Amino acid sequence: MAQLVVSKFGGTSMGDAECMLRSAEVSHRQGSSLIAVSATSGTTNDLIALGKTAESQPWPEAEKIITKILDKHEKIARDLAISSHSQERLEILFEEMNSLAKGVHLLRDCSVKAMDTLMSLGERMSSVLFTEAMAKVLQKYNSKKTAELFDVRTVLRTDDSFGKAKPLTSEIAKLCSENLGFLRDHKKVVVTQGYIGMTDEGMTTTLGRGGSDYSAAILAEGVSADVLEIWTDVAGIATTDPRLCSKAKPISEISFKEASELATFGAKVLHPATLLPAIRKNIPVFVGSSFDAEAKGTWVRKDVEDHPLIRAMALRKKQVLVTLSTPEMLHAHGFLFQIFKVFNDHKVSIDAITTSEISVSVTLDDSTLVNKKLISDLSQFADVQVEDNLALISLIGNNINHTAGLGKHIFEAISDINVRMICLGASKHNFCFLVSEEQGPETIRRLHETFIEAGPEEMG
Ligand code: ASP
Ligand code: MG
Repeated sequence: MAQLVVSKFGGTSMGDAECMLRSAEVSHRQGSSLIAVSATSGTTNDLIALGKTAESQPWPEAEKIITKILDKHEKIARDLAISSHSQERLEILFEEMNSLAKGVHLLRDCSVKAMDTLMSLGERMSSVLFTEAMAKVLQKYNSKKTAELFDVRTVLRTDDSFGKAKPLTSEIAKLCSENLGFLRDHKKVVVTQGYIGMTDEGMTTTLGRGGSDYSAAILAEGVSADVLEIWTDVAGIATTDPRLCSKAKPISEISFKEASELATFGAKVLHPATLLPAIRKNIPVFVGSSFDAEAKGTWVRKDVEDHPLIRAMALRKKQVLVTLSTPEMLHAHGFLFQIFKVFNDHKVSIDAITTSEISVSVTLDDSTLVNKKLISDLSQFADVQVEDNLALISLIGNNINHTAGLGKHIFEAISDINVRMICLGASKHNFCFLVSEEQGPETIRRLHETFIEAGPEEMG
């Protein structure tokens, strides 16, 4: 039986009619049955700007943004010579955008709830257009399959945390089997929206910026796909960000565990949550470039052939180090519990932690500190010190916590760079530490040279 392939195409792969046709060719070649697409590149940002402008500026300013969004989508529609049926669908969406923006403007209030519905239009519009591109390509190859548009909100049930809604896995599985069971017949190519979902009450939600990868993974889990493909504008996952280090190399295969660490610790290629559903259902994930069909891309799966000590490295900027100290921690218990409860109450996610007898340091993304209340709540339990402008450097690989001499090589390579905090031991796959943001790129370049370009022979 043919494999069930779920694919995702990102915003740049939806950039214009040419990009859409190229992406549709890729889907056809790969035999995708379910395709989740992002909004056309830049559109989600434009929709956010529209919401904010409609809320606070004179109406003509909002109108300018509406015109920009309309022009872009109408041009793609013309270039693809879309059917009248799709044209009508598109116009209904344009009308909805206009009404929503008007509503926001009249109320002078763009709530997160309203913003989610507004943002959902990006994916809803691009999916109408991509269905047409897909139909054209199927026709070109005389395929018997038909392209069909599907509203993902029928199956992608979420909670009501607008702006970053949580998918409800078991409900999604049930809805997928009720509504998408026909995929295994391989008669249709279903095009749907990434990034968006719906609550039980029928309110539109979004999964958080860059969430289309995650949507595709959730869908792959929901329909028990054999393969999940993430098509983007780079040829898979690299040993480090090529913008930081020109010697970065493509990775052909990486394990789920390593790739999850890499995505969480700063590699921009995959949304950090993407791998969770794939891991739960053991679905191999391919990451490739829709622009470069020749490039090999990266396979992410449970079992891989080689297990290098260091496979990749990542840099995560804008980190803050929060150090909490109190003499009361001496020989006491419950201190960490109290502190972590505060982070939990504020829904702030901690990345790395180190402790001493009377203090504990944690790293956070600096955006989370916009919330000043977090610091005042923590101050009830300890002295709080906040340092910012830091970068978290992570080395990702295998057997990291059991390899003698690794630390020596790392710190020799960066002996003149001050290391602010180190985390080692909790994971076989990750060694991370903080340096100043300014020295982050240089740190990556030196470590890449040591571990990837040269590779210390005496280790591993
Ligand atoms: N369109 C959404 C964004 O730009 C989701 C995505 O592209 O993955 O964040
Ligand atoms: Mg995107």
